[in-house]
Amino acid sequence: MPHGEQQGELFRVPAASTAPAPVPDGGSLELADQLDALAVDCDACHRCNLGLGRTRVVVSRGNPAARLMVIGEGPGAQEDASGLPFVGRAGQLLDQMLESVGIDSNRDAYVCNVVKCRPPDNRKPTAEEMAVCRPWLERQIALVNPGVILLAGATAMEGVLGVKGGITKLRGQWRQGSGDGLEGRWLMPIFHPSYLLRNPSRERGSPKWLTWQDLQDVRRRLDQLG
Ligand code: SF4
Repeated sequence: MPHGEQQGELFRVPAASTAPAPVPDGGSLELADQLDALAVDCDACHRCNLGLGRTRVVVSRGNPAARLMVIGEGPGAQEDASGLPFVGRAGQLLDQMLESVGIDSNRDAYVCNVVKCRPPDNRKPTAEEMAVCRPWLERQIALVNPGVILLAGATAMEGVLGVKGGITKLRGQWRQGSGDGLEGRWLMPIFHPSYLLRNPSRERGSPKWLTWQDLQDVRRRLDQLG
């Protein structure tokens, strides 16, 4: 029986599930150096006005050698303060969601956002802000080279695929990437974990239950890719 298959265990995981990000070995030092350089470049970036209000630029967490990349919308208050993506309540739920299918977000995934600086009042980043920040994301995708990309929420779907709205309809549907560094990659939109925090039901057919189905599908895809 896969992790958390019983409905009552949906997204419940052992407390000691989070592993530290692995230290790059000799073979991936060059990648680590390039990602460090990317973080330095992002830190100096003021291409859009979001840079004016940030406390810290938020580039990534997790394992750059992972086959899975998780892309969210943008930093919230806790992310802005810590410099790490998905570390607030939504991030904790994301970790539980992934762990429920045997994926440790720090060991088995590379986690980032469409925009690297916090939008004021947690508003959605504008299309222009997402477009201006896009080269940083494309550089991350090129360096990490994920086989599978999880798009957390409608804004991530819009920012990466250019598809607006309809997350309820489009979640759980695989898309094959084309162009803009997405060629050959599998992408899946899912509900954003902050939406799931507002919709906590675990009943069959609920957003949480549907997300669990989606994540099991992601697990299967990763296993197929080997
Ligand atoms: S959001 Fe992106 S483009 Fe805008 S200032 Fe921050 S890093 Fe630069």
